[in-house]
Amino acid sequence: MGREIENILDLLNFYKALGFKELPKNFLESLLRNKITEIELNGEKEKKTLSAINEKISSCTKCSLSKGRTKVVCGEGSITAKLMFIGEAPGVEEDREGRPFVGEAGKLLTNLIEKMGFKRQQVYITNTVKCHPPDNRDPLEEEISLCFDYLKEEIEIVSPKVIITLGKVATYVLMGMKGKIKDIAISKIRGNVFFYNNIPVIPTFHPAYLLRNRKDKWLTWEDAQEALRRLK
Ligand code: SF4
Repeated sequence: MGREIENILDLLNFYKALGFKELPKNFLESLLRNKITEIELNGEKEKKTLSAINEKISSCTKCSLSKGRTKVVCGEGSITAKLMFIGEAPGVEEDREGRPFVGEAGKLLTNLIEKMGFKRQQVYITNTVKCHPPDNRDPLEEEISLCFDYLKEEIEIVSPKVIITLGKVATYVLMGMKGKIKDIAISKIRGNVFFYNNIPVIPTFHPAYLLRNRKDKWLTWEDAQEALRRLK
């Protein structure tokens, strides 16, 4: 029996011994956060949890972005989310707070999520790279590829029904367009649906772009409606 399962059983017995008839809400939440997923890796089953992945990310120095970051920005939201949003990289405010999509672009994303009928905590939000690139530049191909394992693991664990990629970097990564990031124009790709490991992926504009180009908001709303159709 895995160590995580033993720990959960120990905790359940502990709460029972204390006389709890119902489990406290924060205990249930922590169980969900630590949902165990078995992933086939090199022929062996490896147990992975989001918190274990976040721990790895927090101390990661695989690429040079680790040198300039204030805080690593891990994904956040529901581990059982049906809908996942993937952005590009943490901005200045995200780097300061250590959370994805805060600030003005974050507010716009939250508005979109709510307009779609969800609360922000009900979806899962993450970025392609987890550390802030200097001067807000685009992440480099090497940084994207070194960070991709974390994103892959997040998708495997959350296992969403639909993914919305926000901007060209996340779209490039999930489309597997190695070495061709310059060829991607999100305005040409959006409006199409492609698949990553059988999960429909809907590309749309990054909220930071929409802050500068408000007229394109209705196109993002069209993409969101396609996501809702797929969720049904
Ligand atoms: S961007 Fe990703 S790969 Fe690079 S240091 Fe941060 S977590 Fe590690």
